[in-house]
Amino acid sequence: MKGERLKIGIIGASASGIYSALLLALSGRGYEIHLFDHADKIGKKVLATGNGHCNFLHRPFSPQAYNDPSFVESLWKSVGEEKLQQYLDALGIESFVKGELVYPLSYNAAAFVRHLGNLLAKKGIRVSLNEEVKDVDGGRVVTPSGVHDFDIVIFAFGGKSQSNLGSDGSLFSVLGKRGYHITPLSPGLCPLRCADVPKSLAGVRHGALVTLEDGKALYQEDGEVLFKKDGISGIAVMNASLHFQPGTRLHLDLFPSISKADLAEKLARSLSQNGDDFLVPFAEKPLAEFLANKAKNAAKTPSISEKSMQFASLMKDLIFHPIERYGFAESQVTCGGVDLANVNEHLQSAIDPRHYFVGECLNIHGYCGGHNLGFALLSAIVVSEAIA
Ligand SMILES: Cc1cc2nc3c(=O)[nH]c(=O)nc-3n(C[C@H](O)[C@H](O)[C@H](O)COP(=O)(O)OP(=O)(O)OC[C@H]3O[C@@H](n4cnc5c(N)ncnc54)[C@H](O)[C@@H]3O)c2cc1C
Repeated sequence: MKGERLKIGIIGASASGIYSALLLALSGRGYEIHLFDHADKIGKKVLATGNGHCNFLHRPFSPQAYNDPSFVESLWKSVGEEKLQQYLDALGIESFVKGELVYPLSYNAAAFVRHLGNLLAKKGIRVSLNEEVKDVDGGRVVTPSGVHDFDIVIFAFGGKSQSNLGSDGSLFSVLGKRGYHITPLSPGLCPLRCADVPKSLAGVRHGALVTLEDGKALYQEDGEVLFKKDGISGIAVMNASLHFQPGTRLHLDLFPSISKADLAEKLARSLSQNGDDFLVPFAEKPLAEFLANKAKNAAKTPSISEKSMQFASLMKDLIFHPIERYGFAESQVTCGGVDLANVNEHLQSAIDPRHYFVGECLNIHGYCGGHNLGFALLSAIVVSEAIA
């Protein structure tokens, strides 16, 4: 759609909404842009990202990291790394890369959001906070302050994860009434609740190769696990949670860099040096006690070599049985959302051509590591180019 002085309403003033507003303003076509958010500040969720450091991108950009790689690939092919960098430069976003994780140069989410806020003000973009969008009908956006008419409405209202940070999913039912199909919503990137994690393990951290399987490996990643009072968290587990199904099992190799035989040798040495305290070099106390308790029911193992091999086997393959994902309140993304069949390759609605969709409200989610904020940016680029 080409046009001058178009009135564009954007619902959601967080990552995807702010990017969309700024990229449209950068096009220099003089659009009248109005951002709405029911939160009391812009970018409220972005402030919480990356443990306050804001891992806003993953490089190289990887369509494979999303639930629908071919859809993301179809968007990505019109952008590419070079153009992406040009947009970041145009937005004045300076960054650095840690491994493949991209952070703002400030390494600070608050500074990142402040920068975006300054740009919104500089570009004369109108932002209405504490303004909940209750309904949308064509180009008409209804909020408590009244009815606002737009030529184009961009939906950037996120999912329903961590509603204390703004996005509560309330607009999905409004869209449902307007003929959109919303695929089932569920919490993603969250801890897994396990019936067999005892409370005593809460707070324990340990490195582990995490494998989720249901007979065949569904997901595997090396990382740190964090035990909770009734489940397991950590980035590798949160990523694995995207593949959780009832009946899947979680295997932890607590010493992935050591072979079972070498671990048994170390355990044997510790058994002869430390006696009953032989697990001290291997795990903090609650985990050591849990392992000892698990081994208790095994046949009495009189010899050091048998006992060390028994514990090595346990530590190389500690199995838990997840029963469910934790809820939306503890998830980083929402799986499901506006059906991709409802939009075209420009993320324009197939139901109402005045509507565009960006960010997490779409049925797209990715692994931890900057993929989700990365999609917020990619989708905003696609939509702003389509409109301009
Ligand atoms: C704790 C945490 C850490 C994370 N860390 C990372 C990370 O490091 N890297 C990464 O890539 N991703 C991370 N994510 C995921 C990432 O933050 C989201 O995927 C991303 O913010 C989605 O952007 P969005 O603009 O689509 O939606 P959101 O950021 O959720 O924004 C939607 C906005 O719409 C507003 N809104 C919703 N409904 C209405 C309504 N009816 N009226 C008015 N306003 C409305 C909300 O208030 C909100 O501000 C993290 C998420 C969490 C919760």
